[in-house]
Amino acid sequence: MYTNNLDSDIQFLPGVGPKRAALLKKELEISTIGELIRFYPFRYIDRSTIVPIKDIRSDSAFVQFQGSVVSISAPAPAPGGKLKKFSAFVSDGTGQIELVFFKGIKYTMERLQVGSTWLFFGKPSFFSGRINMVHPEIDPPIVQDPSQKGGAGVMTGVYPSTEALKNAGITGKVMNRLMSKALDLTLPEIKETLPDYILRDKGLIPLKTALLTIHFPKDTQSLDKAKYRLKFEELFFLQLSLLKQKFVRSRAENGLPMPKVGKAFNDCFNALPYELTGAQKRVIREIHADLKSGHQMNRLLQGDVGSGKTMVAVLSSLIAIGNGFQACIMAPTEVLTQQHFKNISKYLAPTDVKVALLTGSTKTSERKAIHEGLLDGSIGIVVGTHALIEDTVQFKNLGLAIIDEQHRFGVEQRAKLWNKTSCGIPPHVLVMTATPIPRTLAMTLYGDLDVSVIDEMPPGRKPVQTMLITEKRRYALNKFMKDQIALGRQVFVVYPLIFESEKVDYKNLEKGYEKLVEDFPFPPYKVAIVHGKQTNEEKNFNMSAFAAGRAHILVSTTVIEVGVDVPNASVMVIESAERFGLSQLHQLRGRVGRGSDKSFCVLVKGDKVSKESEHRLELMCETEDGFQLAEEDMKMRGPGDLEGTQQSGLPVSLNIASLAKDGRILQDARDYAEKVLQADPALTSQRNQPLVQELRKDKYKTDDYSNIS
Ligand code: ADP
Ligand code: MG
Repeated sequence: MYTNNLDSDIQFLPGVGPKRAALLKKELEISTIGELIRFYPFRYIDRSTIVPIKDIRSDSAFVQFQGSVVSISAPAPAPGGKLKKFSAFVSDGTGQIELVFFKGIKYTMERLQVGSTWLFFGKPSFFSGRINMVHPEIDPPIVQDPSQKGGAGVMTGVYPSTEALKNAGITGKVMNRLMSKALDLTLPEIKETLPDYILRDKGLIPLKTALLTIHFPKDTQSLDKAKYRLKFEELFFLQLSLLKQKFVRSRAENGLPMPKVGKAFNDCFNALPYELTGAQKRVIREIHADLKSGHQMNRLLQGDVGSGKTMVAVLSSLIAIGNGFQACIMAPTEVLTQQHFKNISKYLAPTDVKVALLTGSTKTSERKAIHEGLLDGSIGIVVGTHALIEDTVQFKNLGLAIIDEQHRFGVEQRAKLWNKTSCGIPPHVLVMTATPIPRTLAMTLYGDLDVSVIDEMPPGRKPVQTMLITEKRRYALNKFMKDQIALGRQVFVVYPLIFESEKVDYKNLEKGYEKLVEDFPFPPYKVAIVHGKQTNEEKNFNMSAFAAGRAHILVSTTVIEVGVDVPNASVMVIESAERFGLSQLHQLRGRVGRGSDKSFCVLVKGDKVSKESEHRLELMCETEDGFQLAEEDMKMRGPGDLEGTQQSGLPVSLNIASLAKDGRILQDARDYAEKVLQADPALTSQRNQPLVQELRKDKYKTDDYSNIS
């Protein structure tokens, strides 16, 4: 065989041709036959599980049923308008169910002719007293073949599809046929990607068998084995590529040497107003081990809000200074930077280290002095916003770059810090985040970083009591807020601001603010408001008024989410709480409970809240464990939506494995990849050559990623 079918353009697969090929490329990003066979069904039609309509319950999970359309109905649109809704009533002799469509109405109406029979799949819901189903999937009916009933070949793969594909005749059936043809052509060419010893060790089935089975399973048992094999393979290579970069870096001699602790560190340490927590001590030891290792540090520090990351940043910076280097601490907002500056200056008082604050609103004359001080080395630590990464900012010898609340910074911005050392060796990098990232996600997003976790809160932090209420209890809430204010406490009130509905959100915020001012009139009450449309000066003015205790209530959008410390605030009210992610709610809640008083978080939910949202909010009331909440968030919303991951994205896209659901396989794959690299760090041994082959593929070229932080 001289031809290579795997890499052939998809148009040459019989039954495709140039037109369909263009569509497959556009809609599914499939350009070659090899890519087609790596496009897997997302579910299977199983003839053995057709549910009689009478047995469908509103709380059933996904169900499959077959029936004929008995009638259809569509509310007349406004004159000249388009149809907005379409219902089909389907019966199978045991009962009837309404199917509702809000999208693809024209296409669906053409298919669901009265009298036609279809196989439907979807999740039932309960609406105005009856069961219905919104946007079920529709497939041609299964003709019961008595000879096959319950026997072999009862499962048919269903592939992700689009309306454009279906219109071009690429139906489910056609897809199955194409797949069968593609497998016929390519199976002889498919090479095993995993060495024999790994297949044996992990009890995996061969790739060929797995591919055949994932498209045409004989039974659920062999399908499970195929899925496991393919998921393991996918996650294993991902981890192997990430860990390999980490191994390479950790062996390269390119780290600024910082063997000592130094006088400044000791001066600060000995004057600390409190004892460091065990977790803080451990993390500082981990960081110091990195700094003196002779290799560049790339460490992610995770610690819940209030866990004391600032102190870790200060002491780490002082190690750099003790070794003759400078440090910078970068934070995402002006307010937060100022707060850092204030705290850090306090911690540094017992030392002779000079610290500067550099933000967008630093005056020109001052800015010039800071630039000079950084260049001549008289400034040891600079705290700042994005202003720090401007090209005009140059250091004498930057040794450590600390980035707080990392997810607010884009990838390129971080990379810019690289060029700020004069010696050509990049600074050590410490990224701090208060957004707990589920372990599986961290392993993937930051697979090439070392991770430290502060998993212990400073003593004396009181739990925050969390309550879930509806609008009906607004009066009681106001009274509660007044009681707290009478005790000398302050209150945060937060409104959601979601990008797509910004206008409506601002309206809600303004309305809410007006209502609050009405309910809390001046005198004696003072209500401040902060939101994204204000200028920096306005924001700072209002924020400072609240921080200094000159306002009782601060109404805001989520701008206060990041880092702001107002120990006297004891109540956090979150409006339309169902619209926030769990991690975000957790962050917001972390803003209270910082002082010595008992603190409260009140979640106000809207009237129309789904069961799922309700469940999430209840979970908020039950736990204060940020990691548990992040895990839940990921399970419910998927990793893409998680706070903290939008900008970074995943290093490679996953075809079959899910970070949310396949955590165990991921852990297993990572452990195994580590084992392989420990035995053969450069993958030079003969038996590992299949791995090297696979890693050469474009999708593992994630250089971009390894260089950022
Ligand atoms: P983070 O940045 O992790 O959210 P901070 O560094 O702002 O947390 O610390 C929160 C509060 O806890 C600060 O007021 C800080 O002074 C205090 N703190 C930090 N470490 C300790 C400790 N070991 N013991 C007591 N209080 C501490
Ligand atoms: Mg902080």
